[in-house]
Amino acid sequence: MSASEPKHRLETQLVHAGEPLPRIAGAVAMPIFQSSTFVYSGEESYHDVRYIRLNNTPNHQALAGKLAAIEGGQAAVVAASGMAAISTSLFALLKAGDHVLIQRDLYGGTHDFVTRDLTRFGVEHTFVDGSDPSSWEAAIRPTTRVLYVETIANPLLRVADLEAAVAFARARGLVSMVDNTFASPVNFRPLERGFDLSLHSGTKYLNGHSDIVAGAVIGRGDLVERIKHQLDHLGGSLDPHACFLLQRGMKTLALRVRYQNDSALAIARFLEAHPAVLRVHYPGLPSHPHHARAKALFDGAGGMVAFELKGGVEAAARLIERLTVPVHAPSLGGIETLITRPATTSHAGLSAEERQQVGISDALIRLSVGLEATEDLIADFTRSLG
Ligand SMILES: *Cc1c(COP(=O)(O)O)cnc(C)c1O
Repeated sequence: MSASEPKHRLETQLVHAGEPLPRIAGAVAMPIFQSSTFVYSGEESYHDVRYIRLNNTPNHQALAGKLAAIEGGQAAVVAASGMAAISTSLFALLKAGDHVLIQRDLYGGTHDFVTRDLTRFGVEHTFVDGSDPSSWEAAIRPTTRVLYVETIANPLLRVADLEAAVAFARARGLVSMVDNTFASPVNFRPLERGFDLSLHSGTKYLNGHSDIVAGAVIGRGDLVERIKHQLDHLGGSLDPHACFLLQRGMKTLALRVRYQNDSALAIARFLEAHPAVLRVHYPGLPSHPHHARAKALFDGAGGMVAFELKGGVEAAARLIERLTVPVHAPSLGGIETLITRPATTSHAGLSAEERQQVGISDALIRLSVGLEATEDLIADFTRSLG
């Protein structure tokens, strides 16, 4: 979007931002450019030579334009997966001897990348409690370069102190990075709040149809350019067909996420009132420890709900088996409701004691609310809990 165009609202940007004008051969939908290479047209930098791995085909450019517009970033780049976006960004910004302050309850892939891979390259880290800014100062070192948090953390849906993270990073000259996958740009736009970089697993809400893996980085132009150059070298580019699907999926993002916000809140309230349920974790409920922060910062509390049953692991397994609408599968953010037990999926790598320490009971159930009728989901839970 050029500076002279009026700034449209999110719904309009999701449909129109980044789409090529004039439309290519009059096509209303963005065509797929299934061409690895393009005719040389005088590019001077290696990174500008048009080639799929260099992330600059028309499909990459349209998608980057849309992503930058919806979160108000100077630039954006898409990657082959959320982990490609996250690992490439950290590689681009860090070198041997550097140190990262990073939130403790972290997406499993990011946790393993930081603890197992970055350490082999001499990059050190300290885990901090994302919602306790008073503990961050003691963890900082002269070599600290990055502060990394997640908007809403898996699976207890804790909300980091995002405002404090930005202020802390600014005051100490750190790059602030946030994984905004769980909130999606509909519920939270990190750059408007001062973050330098917003990262996404496009696999989840952005695409929303459980049919591709993709990642995105949105933010400050100079940082995104460094990350794009790193991505060009590491090679984690998104295929043009997947670019097309992600672009198509994003057009309905606002509709989907708002429906999922409403449906998840209704289901969370239903579960909290049910006699078989011990505890519900949902930032949209007043019982959640970070409810006030979520209310102040987010436009909706999201489509993820976690809960525990009084009957423990056995009752959890029985419920998952009895339910007929939710699909028993990991991942999230799609149109179909997915249900999992994190102890057997995302947090299976931890021992039972380690899970206990971070507050994840083996009986915890995680629900990614889809687009089915809320009434049908609640009826299915009523029947299956009874
Ligand atoms: C799924 C996920 C990722 C990783 O994304 P992939 O597309 O699977 O590589 C990163 N962060 C969060 C919060 C996720 O949910």
